[in-house]
Amino acid sequence: MIDTRLDTSADVLKEALCHDIIENCADAIVVVDADQTITYANKSAELMFGRSDDGFVGKPLHILIPEQVRTKHRSLAISYRDGNEPARFMENRSVPIQGVRADGSEFPVNISILKSGSGSNVMMVAIIRDVAEQKKLEEELERLANTDPLTGILNRRTFLSRAEEECDRARRYDRPMALAMIDIDHFKAVNDSFGHVTGDQAICHVANVISSGLRKPDVFCRWGGEEFALILTETDDQSALITAQRLRRSIQDTPLVRDTAGEPPIQLRVSIGVGDFNPGQETLEELIDRVDQALYSAKRTGRNKVCAIGKISNKSSVRA
Ligand code: GH3
Ligand code: MG
Ligand code: MG
Repeated sequence: MIDTRLDTSADVLKEALCHDIIENCADAIVVVDADQTITYANKSAELMFGRSDDGFVGKPLHILIPEQVRTKHRSLAISYRDGNEPARFMENRSVPIQGVRADGSEFPVNISILKSGSGSNVMMVAIIRDVAEQKKLEEELERLANTDPLTGILNRRTFLSRAEEECDRARRYDRPMALAMIDIDHFKAVNDSFGHVTGDQAICHVANVISSGLRKPDVFCRWGGEEFALILTETDDQSALITAQRLRRSIQDTPLVRDTAGEPPIQLRVSIGVGDFNPGQETLEELIDRVDQALYSAKRTGRNKVCAIGKISNKSSVRA
């Protein structure tokens, strides 16, 4: 006779282990039947969805899903139930999948689903992970990677990639677009007279004043040091010149008010070079080079002024 005692005790052990894993797992585990009615939820599901243990069993799965995606989710679950795929990992990087708590609040989740059995006896198991903290961290890392730590505006790397996108758009749809390069005048004197900390405040001040004078689709960055770059979308050379003059005046009219009482405000000035993009004939790099020439013209011919540079078809003529 074959001794089955060892097999039996191993099965019991396995069953106990499975039970403990399911009950104590940090992820929520929710089981539904073929009709998407909940048949089981573990302790983590109670905590995650803010429901007591009688808040799941017998209820439809859609109580855990935002109203606007319930219909779509239901048909996806039916296709999964009737399909051959044993398991699926649900993750959407652009629009995170959301779970709904008992109080109606939503939170981002990643979900693995698997199934056991078939036909009307099928059980579908969702293993749900709350990724709110992870998403927050990802957003913060993205912000740090895209922005300049001193001013909080875009950094040069992200600006260049956004500017390339705008150049592509201007080429594809034949739309006007302009670039401005902005440099604070005699900034060394600000550092020398008031110290580096005040110099940093002056850079932030210029970034804030210019930011507040822009439209949403414009792309503005700290190019480096006390220089800034600005893509003006849907803007031809004349409008770019008018905008640049307005921004130059806004800096002139808004001195930096210092924290220390009694200290007079610091008067700042900027010089600006502008040029409009010639989609058929130049790259972004060439446009930047042209606009840099206009900026240096503004510096050479007196500062606190705007110089525009014509398209390359106009032989790059600089005008004030
Ligand atoms: P110009 O009118 O010709 O532009 O004169 P400028 O004095 O502004 O000349 P320049 O552009 O050569 O000098 C920029 C100075 O900005 C030099 C550098 O010490 C200072 N600088 C660069 N980055 C920072 C920064 O992050 N903080 C501070 N406080 N100063 C900076
Ligand atoms: Mg300067
Ligand atoms: Mg400079």
